[in-house]
Amino acid sequence: MDISEVTKFLKQKKLSPTSIPNSDQLAYSGNLTVGGQIIPIKLVFKSKYPVDFPDLYIRGWKTSSDLQQQLGIVNINSDGKLCYIDPSGIWWDSSRTLEFLQAVLERSEGLLLKKLQDYSDEELFIQDFGAYWNGTRILSRIKLTHYDYYNVIVSDDIKWIKSSGEQNRSTFFSLRIEHLPIPKNYKNWPPTNLKELIDWLGKNRSTYKDWISKLADTVKARTKGKKNDKPLTLGSIFILDNPISNDLFAPPVFAATFTIDVRLRHALLGGRTKYISSMSAGIKLNRYVIERADPDFIYGRNMPDHKSPLADKKITVIGAGAIGGFLCSQLANLGAGSGKRGELLIIDHDILKPENIGRHYLGLEYVNKLKADALSVAVSKNHPDLNIAPICKPFELIIQELKGSSIIINATGMQTVGVALEEILKRTMPVTILHAWIEGQGAGARTLLNDRQGFACFRCIWNDDDSGNYHSAHPMLQPDTDISLTPAACHESYYAYPVMAAVKTATLAADVIIDYFTETPEPRLRNLVIRKDQCLDPLPDTNPQKSATCPVCL
Ligand SMILES: [Zn+2]
Repeated sequence: MDISEVTKFLKQKKLSPTSIPNSDQLAYSGNLTVGGQIIPIKLVFKSKYPVDFPDLYIRGWKTSSDLQQQLGIVNINSDGKLCYIDPSGIWWDSSRTLEFLQAVLERSEGLLLKKLQDYSDEELFIQDFGAYWNGTRILSRIKLTHYDYYNVIVSDDIKWIKSSGEQNRSTFFSLRIEHLPIPKNYKNWPPTNLKELIDWLGKNRSTYKDWISKLADTVKARTKGKKNDKPLTLGSIFILDNPISNDLFAPPVFAATFTIDVRLRHALLGGRTKYISSMSAGIKLNRYVIERADPDFIYGRNMPDHKSPLADKKITVIGAGAIGGFLCSQLANLGAGSGKRGELLIIDHDILKPENIGRHYLGLEYVNKLKADALSVAVSKNHPDLNIAPICKPFELIIQELKGSSIIINATGMQTVGVALEEILKRTMPVTILHAWIEGQGAGARTLLNDRQGFACFRCIWNDDDSGNYHSAHPMLQPDTDISLTPAACHESYYAYPVMAAVKTATLAADVIIDYFTETPEPRLRNLVIRKDQCLDPLPDTNPQKSATCPVCL
């Protein structure tokens, strides 16, 4: 859209271009008439090419206490920016710029009219509280074990708080709030000192009483057995009872830290709470907005029912090579190793070599390290809450360690390992096995799930002829497809396939694993065609039957 058309359109609406010094932004200034009242506004595009919703500001907002009193602060931040839309739910269509601009103005007028009529929308205020609170720093990690009591300590870095077992010695005390006083304007808001916080809370009697008594309790607990002649730094965590909060949307949480001086400390210990407000004026407040970063939240939020189906499961991956590496990383993203009983066990006795890097999840940093160890370290770095354990031994030497697995995945891509696993586990512990492998030189990805429901095991899908050759009973490749190894040094020939084949195989396996734990294991033999020219067509996914001649199943 030519910018002159935008300007022409907005001129009809009595909005004229205005410059923002030292900025690439594009702005228009004028008035909206809402319910007979004139509201001065400024429309600001983030760049000179309008490709997104413009911001709408109320001009002179900061200094106009009249406007603030009339409109209230809900939906309008301290800079006067009107929150007229949630852009995550709708996208700006640049091919219909003028229509969208028209809608922006109409919507803003509608919202402002509503606010002139009744500005006290507590639900909206609580929902967006973080924006009003405007926390200067973010405490970004918290373990939510109990909504009513956050048991937290500050670690070395104040941005990183975590659960603590020692309730009473915690720096933070927490309070669940049902009703929040809505400030009428931005005077003393958001609070910058303890007095402003107390005065704001004081607008709701019960909230105030609860808070003061928790504060006094915490001071008492922290003072016990010690001289109380030193200032005391405390943090208060507020958990808002959001009307829309449930398991899925945790309630908004915000916090403040402050240092109580000796006088105030004595007043609290002596129960002289009447004077607390006046004594708090000089006490600086640090405001925080707390974001959840606990395992339930991280690993559940991308799932349809907001719970990781992998939580509390022992998931064993044999093979930390090309497929296993990407698979373990995806399984961690999906929550493997989360929950009290959760474990992601990675088994591999190989060492990572430079020639592996071109198709491995791990990079040069880990060369010459044991793959299972390195993978466990690398994945744990991104997911410190998960229980990830490596064993750097051949799987056949550590069969006892596989006990308790909810699923064992053969990610080695090797036929030999697949058959050996079926054979050994049938005798020792008939758990579910998933095999994931690459066909040919990256022609396709395949998985076979043996969930012990009477369908084929991995050995079942291979026929051997009299001359000792093995053929797939469910072929994927066209008969003339090249499946030869690429020769390297002695005993080091390998299948040349690019990284995409490993990633796709890992993804296919991850899909099956989620399906298995959500009780949709079929189809048990799945195909993902990578090279159409090398694969059979059609190639349906199936539930292969047991073979009458399978030496494992016999
Ligand atoms: Zn079999």
